Amino acid sequence: MAETADAVIIGGGIHGASLAFQLTRRGLTPVVVERRAVASGATGRSSGLVRMHYDLEAESRLAWESFRWFRDWAELVGGECGFTRTGFLKIVGPAHTARLRANVAMHQRLGVPMLLVTPDDVRRLAPGFATGDFEAAAYEPESGYADPPSAAGALLQAARERGARLLQDCRVTAVSVAGGRVTGVETTRGAIASPVVVNAAGAWAAEVGRMVGLDLPVTTWRHDTMFIRRPPALRPPHPTVIDGAAAMYFRPETGGLTLVGLEDGNPLGLSPDGDTDHALPGFVERAVGRICRRIPGMEHGGLHSAHGGYDGITPDQHPILDRAGPDGFYLDCGFSGTGFKIAPAVGVCMAELILDGRAATVDISAFALGRFAEGRLLAGEHPYGNLWR
Ligand SMILES: Cc1cc2nc3c(=O)[nH]c(=O)nc-3n(C[C@H](O)[C@H](O)[C@H](O)COP(=O)(O)OP(=O)(O)OC[C@H]3O[C@@H](n4cnc5c(N)ncnc54)[C@H](O)[C@@H]3O)c2cc1C
Repeated sequence: MAETADAVIIGGGIHGASLAFQLTRRGLTPVVVERRAVASGATGRSSGLVRMHYDLEAESRLAWESFRWFRDWAELVGGECGFTRTGFLKIVGPAHTARLRANVAMHQRLGVPMLLVTPDDVRRLAPGFATGDFEAAAYEPESGYADPPSAAGALLQAARERGARLLQDCRVTAVSVAGGRVTGVETTRGAIASPVVVNAAGAWAAEVGRMVGLDLPVTTWRHDTMFIRRPPALRPPHPTVIDGAAAMYFRPETGGLTLVGLEDGNPLGLSPDGDTDHALPGFVERAVGRICRRIPGMEHGGLHSAHGGYDGITPDQHPILDRAGPDGFYLDCGFSGTGFKIAPAVGVCMAELILDGRAATVDISAFALGRFAEGRLLAGEHPYGNLWR
């Protein structure tokens, strides 16, 4: 007889883990099916930035609701998520100063701790930064970064303690449908009967969508990161930074390292099964040049390592949180390279959508699938433009 579950979650990344945890808090016993190992997709490569600054209020609300989970993780989830408070700076070029001001005001209205700061303030917060190319920045004193694989592992551990099951090395090969309703999945290790199936398959979400005849507007986004060893003069950790003026972000890492990623040059549409152990040719040179312009003393640093990862990306670079296709099929995907920091709240909201018919904790209706067919792509209220270009 086939195994049965209250819900089957396809994908053991941070979103599958977060939803599994939240469903068990609501009394369900889901099964998470992961074709490789927990956090073997985007989650295992994620830079883990935890900040609230977005130009889209609906996404800021998800990040803000998620923040308390990262901050109070041991109490709310158990285990560790590696949250490290470094302070966070959002730097924009002069053309975006007015939008930055408006976005800071939006976050302050939501209650997010965020200040508008000057280049002089930035030099005090981050000695060693070059500050001649921007007029203002936003500062989040409480923000920083977390450790995505630890967070996913802790959520799944807590979910399993409440009855969830995790199948690793197990690929979903088909979604079963009868009478317009999902009835379960076929996997490489047998069938699982369930009235609810959730697509949390990250960069593989389009492939899973096709299993129920959905043509999801989700392609793949390749993103490389590098770690450099800071020279002794720069050893104290610096804030976490999204540097829109330089199309770059960076944050400190333990061991005197700095992680650097670039907003441009992230190819779309590659196979998500490609090599992730090495960065693409040319990435390290570009990233070294940019971090050395922002922090000139980094000239004396050294390359530690570089690698890449894949996430699912949508045309407006915002997620799809919805039900679609046969009854009982849900979409928790398309996180477009920024999905880690919102995962706790998305898990809460998707559990509400599945169990109550709509999300109440945060309004996620903006992230409906229908926006693409209707030509209503999401854009920030005071947009900086696409994050990835
Ligand atoms: C290099 C990099 C840096 C990033 N940095 C940040 C950051 O600083 N801050 C931030 O907020 N976000 C960041 N992101 C984005 C964030 O990491 C992702 O949005 C998030 O991890 C996506 O989680 P997920 O669970 O949706 O997908 P994934 O972690 O990719 O998990 C999906 C899982 O589904 C499994 N799967 C696929 N198909 C099947 C199938 N048929 N059967 C069973 N299992 C299947 C895969 O093996 C995979 O493990 C970054 C992403 C990358 C790649």
